[in-house]
Amino acid sequence: MVEKNSSLKSYNTFSIDVRASYFSRFSTTEELSALFQEYKNYPFLIIGGGSNLLLTKDFDGLVLKNEILGKNILEETADSVLVKIGGGENWHEFVLWAVENGFGGVENMSLIPGSVGASPMQNIGAYGVEIKDVFDHLYAYHIETGETHLFSLEECQFGYRESVFKRFLKNQYVITEVCFRLEKNRKVNTTYGAIEQELQKIGISFPTIRDVSNAVISIRQSKLPNPTELGNAGSFFKNPVVDSTIANKIIEKFPTAPVYPAENGKKKLAAGWLIEQAGWKGKTVGTCGVHKLQALVLVNYGGSTGNQIYDLSSAIITDIQEKFGVTLEREVNIL
Ligand SMILES: Cc1cc2nc3c(=O)[nH]c(=O)nc-3n(C[C@H](O)[C@H](O)[C@H](O)COP(=O)(O)OP(=O)(O)OC[C@H]3O[C@@H](n4cnc5c(N)ncnc54)[C@H](O)[C@@H]3O)c2cc1C
Repeated sequence: MVEKNSSLKSYNTFSIDVRASYFSRFSTTEELSALFQEYKNYPFLIIGGGSNLLLTKDFDGLVLKNEILGKNILEETADSVLVKIGGGENWHEFVLWAVENGFGGVENMSLIPGSVGASPMQNIGAYGVEIKDVFDHLYAYHIETGETHLFSLEECQFGYRESVFKRFLKNQYVITEVCFRLEKNRKVNTTYGAIEQELQKIGISFPTIRDVSNAVISIRQSKLPNPTELGNAGSFFKNPVVDSTIANKIIEKFPTAPVYPAENGKKKLAAGWLIEQAGWKGKTVGTCGVHKLQALVLVNYGGSTGNQIYDLSSAIITDIQEKFGVTLEREVNIL
């Protein structure tokens, strides 16, 4: 059923109250196809969990919520499984299902909000793992022709919070199903962030994928605001990748600044560190602000408009540019 003049407040984790002229759910490719035919002259927006979106105005078009479900094992060997997951499945529920079945590879990405269908959009990642590490192929509906195409790992052109769907093929495809290759005898990766510390705290020396998943859940719950309690979209900015000359200047001034090696001799800086250093952490501006524990996370304390949050992000970008000569890029999709 297509709803008219529908509020999107409960469909975006920032809880921004804007309206869509038309709103519909779809649970099959056929339903999607029929909706595109009926509303072919309207702009459209696909949403999953709305956890990587900042809505700055009413959407004069059709908002389509992906509810394609299904978790299927396509192939199984002694060492691995190939699984096909519906794009409308909740990402974290998929991770828990994988862990429950002893399929390793996604446990470090526990508790990332949103849908499986959106996970390739920005090659989601956490605690040293990205979906490109477990990705096999995906199916996407081509809006113009109505055909479903298969995309291989190479064709997705995954990068740091990037894919071909966010760049060259933007607004051309709807990701309907994603296939992942998971390991049955996974050697867990606990080297990143505070995973080891968390495991030590609970006395685990030989962690299973379940232990790693639990550790990640516990760390994330302790430092990230829960969107059901405080509107946010996770990291608002990407970690900037800069020339080594810029990184060296920062290290000269701040010897403990976190700097990591990146591709082609470049360096990756921690956006959260830059924002905190510039004094923004915990700052409130009207009804929005920068989270008190995570400088990378902008929050809606209630009643903020998308534009107020956008303006706050612009003020941060200008300030970081002036103080460090580094241009921050927004990770969140602005609409
Ligand atoms: C508290 C919190 C923590 C987070 N932590 C992380 C993290 O650790 N790592 C990380 O990478 N991200 C993180 N995020 C960001 C977010 O969870 C991911 O980007 C997630 O993949 C978004 O999924 P979604 O279904 O909510 O996408 P949406 O916000 O609904 O959509 C995001 C974009 O993808 C498009 N889109 C959605 N579904 C489809 C589809 N099926 N086909 C085509 N286009 C589509 C939308 O049009 C939009 O442009 C976090 C967010 C929050 C709120």
